[in-house]
Amino acid sequence: MTGVSMTSDTCNKKIKLNQDVVVIGAGPCGLFQAFQLGLQGISCTVIEAAEKAGGQCTELYPDKSIYDIPGIPHTFADPLISSLQQQLKPFDTNFLLGHVVTAIEPENTLYRVVTDGGVTITTRFIILATGAGAFTPVKLRVDGLDKYLNKQIFYNEPPVRKIKDKRIVVVGDNEVAINTAIRFCSIAKQVTFVHRKRRLDASAATLLELAGRAESGSIQQLHGKITDAQHDSVLTKVSILLSSKEHIDLPVDSLLPRLGSSPKMSPLNQWGINTVANHVAVDPGNLNSSIAGVFAIGDINTYPGKRKLILCGFHEATLAAFAIAALMRPDKPVHTLYTTTSTELQKRLGVSDIS
Ligand SMILES: Cc1cc2nc3c(=O)[nH]c(=O)nc-3n(C[C@H](O)[C@H](O)[C@H](O)COP(=O)(O)OP(=O)(O)OC[C@H]3O[C@@H](n4cnc5c(N)ncnc54)[C@H](O)[C@@H]3O)c2cc1C
Repeated sequence: MTGVSMTSDTCNKKIKLNQDVVVIGAGPCGLFQAFQLGLQGISCTVIEAAEKAGGQCTELYPDKSIYDIPGIPHTFADPLISSLQQQLKPFDTNFLLGHVVTAIEPENTLYRVVTDGGVTITTRFIILATGAGAFTPVKLRVDGLDKYLNKQIFYNEPPVRKIKDKRIVVVGDNEVAINTAIRFCSIAKQVTFVHRKRRLDASAATLLELAGRAESGSIQQLHGKITDAQHDSVLTKVSILLSSKEHIDLPVDSLLPRLGSSPKMSPLNQWGINTVANHVAVDPGNLNSSIAGVFAIGDINTYPGKRKLILCGFHEATLAAFAIAALMRPDKPVHTLYTTTSTELQKRLGVSDIS
């Protein structure tokens, strides 16, 4: 499943539990890795901690211009990631989104890749494309709320039944938070939007829409912070300290914190992988790590001359795909083929050369 509208709802149901290759991380390099494997006729599963692909581009600098992607004079994260997903369409790539890989366990000549969502995939080869770390939502710092996770507190997309006719509270200072509040206006019983910053980090159009909704009363906008929660067997109220210094208790059925995301590095050493200053030491000729069959590409690896640039990760993805193809088909030489002239590659891409 590929494409810009890729969501965990649509992707995760189709996951294969046995794969030749598992790519960990759907940043720009992980996505291009899946494409390069596809060109070699190898399908893979890409596991991503965040609910969407894009890595640092999407999570850290969605609004900044990128000028050094070969052949693209100027772009932004969204169109770049979208094009990488589009390019993958001809291939049988599986995505498991919203899952953090927590363990890699050797099993005879294979590996078991285990996620925090309880999925285990058995694979022959692993490609670490974990970059700056696993992007997961920043948690709301209020004691005792963890037990309501995915019951009344939703850091990712909640089920509709948890919104429909419910009193929802959305928390955050950013575009995603405001859009979440706006989006659920028509189905929730009551939407309250709580923000700490006076100046919200959102586009003019989004701010205008919020102002309109607040004026019409379809969104209750509160400037303050959640300090406490009242709960017993269920979460009933949140306490808010308003900027006016007044305290209020707000009834809540579903709480939706949208506080951004932060990256957390994987425990690579626990996985038995040699690192140098927290980066995976690889052979730059084939991107293999200290463990046979485990490769590392993009920002997570290191070798003499390494540069943390997207285009360098693209090159590494290409070499890793060639190396895995050679290991999978030891009796056949892996030739360098051109997409412009190779009928084999064009067949895999589902195109024919009409020029
Ligand atoms: C502000 C800024 C501007 C930049 N501008 C440019 C530029 O103009 N040009 C350029 O070439 N480069 C630029 N870079 C660098 C570029 O963003 C990185 O080189 C690139 O994102 C690396 O891609 P990646 O796929 O290796 O890693 P990442 O983009 O970090 O993606 C890694 C992905 O792996 C996931 N992940 C990690 N661990 C796990 C796990 N255990 N389980 C599941 N998923 C996991 C993460 O959630 C993430 O989505 C910039 C970086 C920053 C911070």
